[in-house]
Amino acid sequence: MLDYCEAAIRKGFEEIAFTDHLTVFPDGSSTAHSLDWLKLENYVKEAEMAREKYGGRLAVRLGLEVDYIPGNERFLENVLDSYDFDFIMGSVHFVGGICIDSPKHRILVEREIGSNGFNVFYSKYMRLVSKAVETGLFHVIGHIDIVRIWGFNPGDGSMDEQKVLNLVKQHEMCIEASSRGLRQPVNSIYPSHRIMRKARELEIPLTLGTDAHSVEEIDYAYDSLISYVKAFGYERIATLSKRRILERKI
Ligand SMILES: [Zn+2]
Repeated sequence: MLDYCEAAIRKGFEEIAFTDHLTVFPDGSSTAHSLDWLKLENYVKEAEMAREKYGGRLAVRLGLEVDYIPGNERFLENVLDSYDFDFIMGSVHFVGGICIDSPKHRILVEREIGSNGFNVFYSKYMRLVSKAVETGLFHVIGHIDIVRIWGFNPGDGSMDEQKVLNLVKQHEMCIEASSRGLRQPVNSIYPSHRIMRKARELEIPLTLGTDAHSVEEIDYAYDSLISYVKAFGYERIATLSKRRILERKI
């Protein structure tokens, strides 16, 4: 975290948010890339160290990117309430046991799409995102249409998107605009133009993310990200502190 903070200051940022992965299945097992939920205390302590060291120069927000998997709600509720996170970003990476953004599972995604078409898969994914929103556990939805990762685009997914965004609005949540997609086969920022237009219409606040998995990536395509959200009329972005949305002029 200290390395990321150093880099953020060097690159002229005033604020940084950490959202390490927490993936816990309903049976309590985890994936290899997930933080160990028994050691979340260390994660929290590290953020405190970063705040002590860089306070005044850099606002350090502590969040988590948490997988929504049907059946893991109760567990998450207990774990997430035990720590003072600034916010929790909810993401869907698993659709019926398939990890949609894992290169190893790409073939499974393609097989599903081959038999039923992308729109059926898209609807399935979006229904899970809706359920994630309805849990009330999350403040932000991460990369809301990452299901497009392998380059597929929904033709008529508009109804599913509208439903999810209405729920996001009702729950007073944010969605994340992420440059991650620019380094994936889809080669576009998440969310799509159509979702961005609807989000803007509903005045849903946007957080900005680069989904950095290394220090070098913290400002990945940041200028493109800013121009992208501005093109849809966004003049402010959201950051979160103590589970409250703060609005910042871009
Ligand atoms: Zn993710």
